[in-house]
This record gives sequence, structure tokens and C-alpha cells, in this order.
Amino acid sequence: MTTTNGTTENGQTDRKPPGLPRPLPNLEIQHHQIFINNEWHQSVSGRKFPVYNPTTGNKICEVEEADKADVDKAVAAARAAFQRGSPWRQMDASGRGRLLHKLADLLERDRVVLATLESMDTGKPFLHSFLVDLEGCIRTLRYYAGWADKIQGRTVPVDDTFFCFTVHEPIGVCGAITPWNFPLLMVTWKMGPALCCGNTLVLKPAEQTPLTALYMGSLITEAGFPPGVVNIVPGYGPTAGAAISHHSDIDKVAFTGSTEVGKLIKEAASRSNLKRVTLELGGKNPCIVFADSDLELAVECVHQGVFFNQGQCCTAASRVFVEEQVYPEFVRRSVEHAKRRLVGDPFDPKTEQGPQIDQEQFDKIVELIQSGKEEGAKLECGGSPMAGRGLFIKPTVFSEVTDDMRIAKEEIFGPVQAILKFKSTEDVIKRANSTEYGLTAAVFTGSLDKALTVASALQSGTVWVNCYNALHVQAPFGGYKMSGNGRELGEYALTEYTEVKTVTIKLSQKKL
Ligand code: NAP
Ligand code: MG
Repeated sequence: MTTTNGTTENGQTDRKPPGLPRPLPNLEIQHHQIFINNEWHQSVSGRKFPVYNPTTGNKICEVEEADKADVDKAVAAARAAFQRGSPWRQMDASGRGRLLHKLADLLERDRVVLATLESMDTGKPFLHSFLVDLEGCIRTLRYYAGWADKIQGRTVPVDDTFFCFTVHEPIGVCGAITPWNFPLLMVTWKMGPALCCGNTLVLKPAEQTPLTALYMGSLITEAGFPPGVVNIVPGYGPTAGAAISHHSDIDKVAFTGSTEVGKLIKEAASRSNLKRVTLELGGKNPCIVFADSDLELAVECVHQGVFFNQGQCCTAASRVFVEEQVYPEFVRRSVEHAKRRLVGDPFDPKTEQGPQIDQEQFDKIVELIQSGKEEGAKLECGGSPMAGRGLFIKPTVFSEVTDDMRIAKEEIFGPVQAILKFKSTEDVIKRANSTEYGLTAAVFTGSLDKALTVASALQSGTVWVNCYNALHVQAPFGGYKMSGNGRELGEYALTEYTEVKTVTIKLSQKKL
């Protein structure tokens, strides 16, 4: 079973590189400016913002702070690169594929540098950055490289006085606004399909984690993309992000982040130019464990499902429903797993869990843990920050959780497992669906019949059966309900980055 594009549930890769890679702890930050037209720029305002290492709390560097004026420059560059007759528009479709493959080659070459930067910036274990995030990035770019010259329209049967066909054209200038939990991976999920379809891009990475995206700028130039095809504007959401979502010369925006900001993006799109919007938002993902499942497999998958990436995943297994006969045993084993989880320095190869991303997220998680205690859930282990360790939180397990508790309703985005009990299949389906979210779900059972019945009843963009986080670049990913609009990954993502043009030709009917 593979997760996040190529790793097993316990974080090992199925394409092991030779020997264990080692991070570069004294890495110098080379790229901290705004990237427009394949050149590095200072901000128009002259402002910079600090980027911190969440493990130590130390400032890593200062980055040029893009705002509306810088976004305008980036959009003008992206528009020019998209004009008819530009090198990018004239390029053979296979040429776009070759450039994406070249970019993937460069990511492979600089994989240790990028994984080090990602771990410095996010606090995620270096081996996770290297084996999960970077593997996913490379696979994503290669997958979409393959699509570049295979995006085809159709001939459409109408009456025989016409000839009718469709062309799938790039939309134009695409905006991308990405989060801090998988910074580079989320960039490639947008960049891959956007570029293979022939669009140009203005990208705003999350303020906490801009460093790998900026490094990508140097690789974009080195790979040989024409100037203006990719532009990167590091900055804050309400300024640089809003400038993208409100921009009248951006044709589409793709966003990953909170549901709250997702609503703002859609509103901004409607108030400006009705740009196309795709949203990948939060989740409160149900995970249903039946008594007939392989219990050890379920415990292990669910443990990784909720604690992976410090719990900071939109796919987190954050509502675990366990059938009553196996409930006590499931809780006992889950607590054992949580207590064994190694929390510490992301650069130590044994570490499984690093710090949370920042003080705001840390405070939110601690407050939700407190609510669990106050609302009567049973704290089985953890339940507090690690004394004197900054942003580190102990792996926490609550049992006896009920549907009305905040920890069962709100996205925690932290290392907190909430275990609920269920009695009947019909009851658990209703409870699983009674949320405004619908991103992912999982079912653990030995019965194919039960698995398919539940999978078909769940309102969720993805359902995993006897596995978790089994994401593949070939398969679409996205949410029902308030978990989002549209799909990323797979062939489905191409439709989010293309317009369909219908061309209808009247045939003369003359005798030839
Ligand atoms: P967020 O605010 O939604 O951040 C996502 C991206 O949107 C960032 O680049 C952010 O910029 C930008 N942004 C913020 N406000 C904006 C605006 N008004 N217009 C345009 N762009 C804007 O998420 P967050 O504050 O980092 O995290 C809050 C919660 O969101 C988390 O607790 C979690 O529940 C959820 N979240 C979900 C995902 C996911 O994968 N679906 C990822 C991250 C967070 P800044 O860098 O300035 O924030
Ligand atoms: Mg934010």
C-alpha cells in the first residue's frame, strides 16, 4: 500500500534511494526575493517579512514582501508570456512536456537541498520531506509532463451539413495560492497541470513557508521555461493573496487552505471578473473500523492517518468510529502507538513528529485539547505541549468522544486522535456524513460487501478501504460539500486548467 505518491503507511518509500539521505543543516538561503520574468526583484514597497524555523523559533531569513503592486507586475509578465505568438504559445506541446521533465530532473538533482529547506521551514521530519513530499513533487511533474501532448478535443457528430469539433485550450493566466503544510507538493499539484495545458502562473506560497517555492524559481529558469511563464510572489494572504483573487486579469485561481479563506477567494472571484475557481479545503474525515477488520492494520493506518505531518493534513483521520465489540482493544492499541511515537528534532532520522507550524496553530490545538477535557472525553495519553519545547505537542488520544464535542466537529490540524464508538452500519453512515465537510473517508473491514456499501453511502471525494492516505498522482483528489470545488491530480485536473472551444463549420453542400 502506498501513501502520498509512493510511500507505505509507516513512511517508507517503495522506491528506496540508495542509503539514507542526510540533511544539510547549515544550508545558506539563496532565494528570498520575488520571482518575475525569470528575474529576482525587490518588493515595490521596500518591505520584507521574516521566516522562522518552527523547531528552534529562530529567524531563518527575511523575504521580499509582495503586495498588490508586485502582483500587478507578475500578472503583466504572465499575460505577456501568454500572448499569441509568444515563445510559450508557439511551443510544440511536446516541448512543454520536455520542460516539465527537465524541471523534475532538477528536483531530483537538488532533492536533498529542497527537503532540507522544507524541513527547516515547516518542522516536518527531514526523511518525510525527502521521501514523501519530494517524491510526490517529482511524480506530479513527470505525470503532467506526459500529458502535455495528449490533451485532445473531439469531433462531434451533428447533422451532415456541418463539421463540428472541440479544442481544449489553456485558460490563460492562472493564480495559485498554497498552504504551509505541504508547501512544495501543493505548488506542483497546481504547476504541473497548469503548465502542461499551456497556461502561465502567478503563485503565492504561504507566508510561513515560501523557501522551497522560491528555490523552484531558480530551477524554472535553469530548466529553460520562457520568462513570465512562472512568477512567484511571496507575501501575506490578505494583501498579496487577495490581490490575486481580486485581479481582473487573472483568469483562474487555484487555492488550497482553510474553508474560511476559500469562501473569500470565491467571493473575490465573483466581485471581480468571475475567474474560474478551484478550492481544496478542510476536512473532518470519518474513518470507520468494523469489528471484522484486520485490527492491527486498522490501528496502524489510522494512527499514521491522524498523526502524519504533525496532524497538519486536510486528510487527517480526525473522526475515528470503531464498532463497539472491538472498541476497548482498538483504544488500547492506539494509545500504545501514540506513546511510542518519537517526537523531536526533524533532522534526527528516527523522529516521526516535529513541532507545529506556528504559535497561532499551536494555540488553536491546545485550546481544542482543553475543550475535549472539559466536554467529557477521556484523555488516554498526551493532552499537553512538551514542557520547555516551544511548538511541540505530545501525541494525544481521546476515547469516549461523542458527536457533539468540538474535537469531533472542528478541524484540529494537530496531533490529536478522537475515537468514537458505533453500533450499527446505518447509524455510523449517518454520523459520518453529518458534517459540512466531505474530503476523505476510510473503511476498515474484511467484508467486500460492507466496504462497497459504505463507500457508496459516504459523501466524500475519496474513500480508502483498508488503507489510508493512499494518494496517487494518477487519481483525482478533492472534496464534496464545503471541502472544496473541483479536483486536483489525475486526468480530471486537466479540465480545471482548460477551456473547451467548439468550432462548427458549415459545409457548402455544393456538388464537388
Ligand atoms: P489559510 O489562511 O487558508 O492559508 C492558505 C493560503 O491562503 C496562504 O497562502 C494564505 O496566506 C492565503 N490567504 C490567507 N488569507 C487570504 C485572503 N484573504 N485572500 C487570499 N489568500 C489568503 O490557512 P492558515 O491560516 O494557514 O491555516 C488555518 C487553518 O486552515 C488550519 O488550521 C487548517 O484547519 C486549515 N488549513 C487547511 C489546509 C489544507 O490542506 N486544506 C492547509 C493549511 C491550513 P498566509 O500565508 O498569509 O496565511
Ligand atoms: Mg492564514
